[in-house]
Amino acid sequence: MGPPGSGKGTQAQTLVRDHGWVQLSTGDLFRDHIGRGTELGKKVKGYLDRGEYVPDAITVDMVRQRLREIPAGTRIIFDGFPRTVAQADALDALLGEFGRRVDGVVFFEVPRAEILARLNKRAREQGRSDDTPEVIGTRFDVYEKQTRPVVDHYQAKGIVRPVDGVGTVDDIAKRLRAAAER
Ligand code: AMP
Repeated sequence: MGPPGSGKGTQAQTLVRDHGWVQLSTGDLFRDHIGRGTELGKKVKGYLDRGEYVPDAITVDMVRQRLREIPAGTRIIFDGFPRTVAQADALDALLGEFGRRVDGVVFFEVPRAEILARLNKRAREQGRSDDTPEVIGTRFDVYEKQTRPVVDHYQAKGIVRPVDGVGTVDDIAKRLRAAAER
């Protein structure tokens, strides 16, 4: 977990690359559907363009489908999910269906000024349509309002592992790995 631009996707990919975990990124799944022009893609495009969250029911259904495809025993890193307390509750129920549970929650700590610099850089390099100044502002507000409480929810369970998210990708990947091992 972490605010937009805190490195969730980049770091999740290091666990995939170095340790064979499976990444389940709801943002990537939505972008894939939009790119392929599926019914789901058409339904969610407006939310992504505006920087708002896709409704929980749609998001949870998509995660359920993806989970069915992942072999039992695989270590999964969820990236950008759950983002609401309702999604966190749904995830517990879902994992229960598969005989699994959330083992730990990594929280990337990055100062806001650093994040804004990164998002502006990503806007130039990757041209993500939701990395415009206006939409970035909305995404931060939505994060604070809807996702901060999810961190608190996991904090109450004692499974949050804070990771300093400032440094090179490799430095942070080492810290992430150490946090994942704990
Ligand atoms: P991300 O790539 O994780 O930054 O997600 C990009 C966008 O996809 C978000 O701004 C939301 O519009 C949508 N999205 C991704 N994950 C979720 C989620 N768990 N719940 C609702 N909307 C999501």
